[in-house]
Amino acid sequence: MIDKSIIHWFQKDLRLTDNPALYKATTLGRVLPIYILDDSPSVRDKIGDASRVWLHHSLNSLNDSLDQSLAVFKGDPIDILSSLIDRHAITDVCWNIQYEPWCQKRDLKIIKWLEKKNIKIHLFNSSLLWQPDSIKKKDGTPYKVFTPFYKRGCMNSSIPEKPLPTVNLTKNLIKCETHQGIESLNLIPAPRWDKMMMNNWSVGEVRAKRLLSTFLKENICQYKTGRDLPAQLYTSRLSPYIHFGELSIRQIWHAAQQLQADSNTDCFLSQLGWREFSYNLLLHNPDLPCKNLKSKFDLFPWSNNQDHLKAWQRGQTGIPMVDAGMRELWQTGYMHNRLRMIVGSFLVKNLRIDWRKGERWFWDCLVDADLANNSAGWQWIAGCGTDASPYFRIFNPVTQGKKFDPEGQYVRRFVPELKKIPLKYLFSPWEAPKSILDHLGIRLGENYPKPIVDLKQSRLEALEAFSSLKQNVI
Ligand SMILES: Cc1cc2nc3c(=O)[nH]c(=O)nc-3n(C[C@H](O)[C@H](O)[C@H](O)COP(=O)(O)OP(=O)(O)OC[C@H]3O[C@@H](n4cnc5c(N)ncnc54)[C@H](O)[C@@H]3O)c2cc1C
Repeated sequence: MIDKSIIHWFQKDLRLTDNPALYKATTLGRVLPIYILDDSPSVRDKIGDASRVWLHHSLNSLNDSLDQSLAVFKGDPIDILSSLIDRHAITDVCWNIQYEPWCQKRDLKIIKWLEKKNIKIHLFNSSLLWQPDSIKKKDGTPYKVFTPFYKRGCMNSSIPEKPLPTVNLTKNLIKCETHQGIESLNLIPAPRWDKMMMNNWSVGEVRAKRLLSTFLKENICQYKTGRDLPAQLYTSRLSPYIHFGELSIRQIWHAAQQLQADSNTDCFLSQLGWREFSYNLLLHNPDLPCKNLKSKFDLFPWSNNQDHLKAWQRGQTGIPMVDAGMRELWQTGYMHNRLRMIVGSFLVKNLRIDWRKGERWFWDCLVDADLANNSAGWQWIAGCGTDASPYFRIFNPVTQGKKFDPEGQYVRRFVPELKKIPLKYLFSPWEAPKSILDHLGIRLGENYPKPIVDLKQSRLEALEAFSSLKQNVI
């Protein structure tokens, strides 16, 4: 048995613990661990710029754990697998399934081709708690609303499998001399804008495990209320590690289950449930990233104001809470969930810019950019998803700031132009008396923008535009 040569194809499972496909590979023979950057998918599906940087560091970290044996390639997977199979007399190929529509299509082709070559294939679900097809309503149709999906579907389903142990590969690795190497993937940008962003992170499986353990020990006990406060570290910040599979979702689920059950733990587990829901939506609606799930939104008269879009992207809207969120994204590659909702609502409702433009910007700027979560999040905020925030729910960034950043620490951190303004005016500096602004040297329209839209007026216009959709439905 040990003479067999097996490929483990790493994709979004960049870890050695609880990796079912890798675990299987080690039981079959000697393992050739590979990673393929497939830049062939449509522009929409290509990995965004910030995520490419994360991927670079994540591959390096994995390569270190594999005794520098990770074989890295760029190109068409069939061409690459074909030459490796011949060169190393490979008998089996193992990988963990990816649920993005383009991966599903690609895999069908690869599976057929491998079967023709008489190569054994071993596929596993390692990125979701439940097989996405297994959670269905009694009538066999997929759930469209989160609460019944999670409570009736997931919670009545079998308990997610326990994590597998860490594999020990050191004596069992096949080294490939002909691979291209991580540097050849050109994941690091020029000029190097990534350095400031990565100062906020430390990538890799070991770090991910430590972060989970600290979160469970110190922060989850305040999760239910604390998760809405962007200035505090009450959420796990595990999203990029989960996306790249440096930590498995089952590891997180079972570690949290070990804690005493309470409303904080339940609330955290239900957020993992939202992730499962997003993947289910994507699986049953492969156009989720680009097509309104509620088709009446196809008639919506989106604005094409490029100045507004640029101001939003750069955190220069003159609305401090929105600007803080957009600058957090730009500087750190991450944005707190509360802010994702506030800036999303502002783009789609106050500026009436198509949610897909926001989705694309997030895709490029987030280190946790995830096709399912990002598309579902944007459809939710725009009101065009199946279980979406209703169109008349328009977040007011001033009241949101007062409620969720009550001491102003978050806004002051990312909008230093307003650092000294009294808290009373921090979220709406245009309301501050001229004497205060003059005294602090704040000149609206010069060293901090005037608001690009009037919040009240744009809210009314949005409500009118959204309610007209109802009448237009045929
Ligand atoms: C417009 C918009 C876009 C989003 N884009 C993404 C994205 O590209 N990638 C991404 O991972 N999440 C996305 N989210 C969901 C959510 O904002 C992030 O998962 C969360 O902020 C990550 O921080 P955390 O790890 O500290 O979360 P925690 O609160 O600690 O939650 C733990 C994990 O649960 C999952 N999760 C939490 N909230 C959600 C949610 N609402 N939907 C789906 N899964 C969730 C994530 O995997 C997260 O890491 C988006 C939300 C919105 C409103």
